[in-house]
Amino acid sequence: MPSLPARLTDRLVADPDVARTYGVDHSPGAVAPEDFTVVRARDRADVVEVLRYAAAHRIPVVPQGARTATTGAAMAIQGGIALNTEAIDHVEIDSVERIAVVGPGVVNADLKTQLTAYSLAYPPDPASSDSCTIGGNIATNAGGLCCVKYGVTADYVRGLEVVLPGGEVMRTGRRTAKGVTGYDLTGLFVGSEGTLGVVTEAVLRLIPAPDPALTVLAVFDTLEATMAGVAALREQRHTPSLVELLDGPSIAAIQEFGDYGFPADAGGVLLVQSDRIGHAHDDVLQYAEALASAGASDVAVADDAVEADLLLQGRRALNPALEARGSRVIEDVCVPVGRLGDLVRRVHEIADHHGLEAVCSGHAGDGNLHPCFFFDKDDPAQVAGAQAAFGETVEAAWALGGTLTGEHGVGTLKAPWLEGELGAAEVARQRAVKALFDPLGIMNPGRIFA
Ligand SMILES: Cc1cc2nc3c(=O)[nH]c(=O)nc-3n(C[C@H](O)[C@H](O)[C@H](O)COP(=O)(O)OP(=O)(O)OC[C@H]3O[C@@H](n4cnc5c(N)ncnc54)[C@H](O)[C@@H]3O)c2cc1C
Repeated sequence: MPSLPARLTDRLVADPDVARTYGVDHSPGAVAPEDFTVVRARDRADVVEVLRYAAAHRIPVVPQGARTATTGAAMAIQGGIALNTEAIDHVEIDSVERIAVVGPGVVNADLKTQLTAYSLAYPPDPASSDSCTIGGNIATNAGGLCCVKYGVTADYVRGLEVVLPGGEVMRTGRRTAKGVTGYDLTGLFVGSEGTLGVVTEAVLRLIPAPDPALTVLAVFDTLEATMAGVAALREQRHTPSLVELLDGPSIAAIQEFGDYGFPADAGGVLLVQSDRIGHAHDDVLQYAEALASAGASDVAVADDAVEADLLLQGRRALNPALEARGSRVIEDVCVPVGRLGDLVRRVHEIADHHGLEAVCSGHAGDGNLHPCFFFDKDDPAQVAGAQAAFGETVEAAWALGGTLTGEHGVGTLKAPWLEGELGAAEVARQRAVKALFDPLGIMNPGRIFA
């Protein structure tokens, strides 16, 4: 690679062992490429410099936050630059306008913590919120646990500052609550997975802080009863702030990992919360009654925020429990809420067909589940089976009226299925949009589009 501009010399990650850690994200089997350069930008000017240089030398650039992507979208590219924006982490909070103007490197949970002093909240809450960054959240239109009530990242991004390939700085959107001036280019960049430009600042909408959430935990003997519970919650006048599903095998996996008090032979568990200001207690009692009427065999209601948090601990243990079980592929499909039960059944049929174990859990309130297939990485038949199961789950979601990704994005792993969902003409239009912003094709190439 030609030598980098002098300004960037002390932004380079020189230690090869440390640099290698920037080569991978959280996608299964991720392996760092042999040769790539890591630049940790400290401000917009650094990003401008990198993108000017990259365009001049036709070098691919991968924007990166905390690299918690599960899709390969944040993995370094052979011969390319991994442009990390974690260190651009300024925060300005305007409590009158109820906005935060932030750098892309701000960690989601840190922003939430800072907002408590203003009695304000930024709702998007991916399960990775302790480490993932706002830049990564914007680029993936991240969801999370509370979307059932509060929506996704796109619902909170009012404006962006983006550096385009070649180094031009572009501003989209606005700071004000309303505005319809021209096309919504902010919306275009949200969820674009770093393929159009690098976000260097964002204007985020804030809301008044809700009450501390209270929790209901409902245990069901069968999957069918669990789905009746989900349906009963859809009829509530006050939408829960969280509805999480664990199927039977997920519960067994968590109990294997540690004793979180779930009956190991349960057919399903629903965790439900309310944070409605002044009414959380009334709501959880109402949800508990509805879940019991729907057929729950056991319902526990937390009386205070500490107890509410304890009830959620089993859900939090899910990711470490799955990690502890070894090699796996994790899906992220979204179906109509009324078809969730069909999706769970189909996932287990697919797993059985390939001789694999699977668990199915996720954000039931949105119809967004993360089926997970386990395989023995030393057994070629199991590796092939897991790959096939991944694709068959996408097709199952389509058959049920759903989509191939609810919140994690397309990345490289799901790029082969893009055309199957959008059709050739729509993919061609989307490629043309990319070419408008990135005519040289240097921004995160190979992501979204195969
Ligand atoms: C345990 C675990 C739980 C998770 N739970 C959830 C969940 O509940 N909901 C959910 O939506 N996701 C979840 N994820 C996926 C992941 O955390 C999210 O996609 C998150 O938004 C990625 O943020 P990041 O900072 O790690 O970005 P990275 O992984 O570094 O990058 C993600 C994408 O954003 C792009 N990008 C990063 N920074 C910029 C920038 N400044 N400008 C332009 N593009 C940029 C990258 O190129 C890449 O395409 C989970 C992941 C893990 C490992």
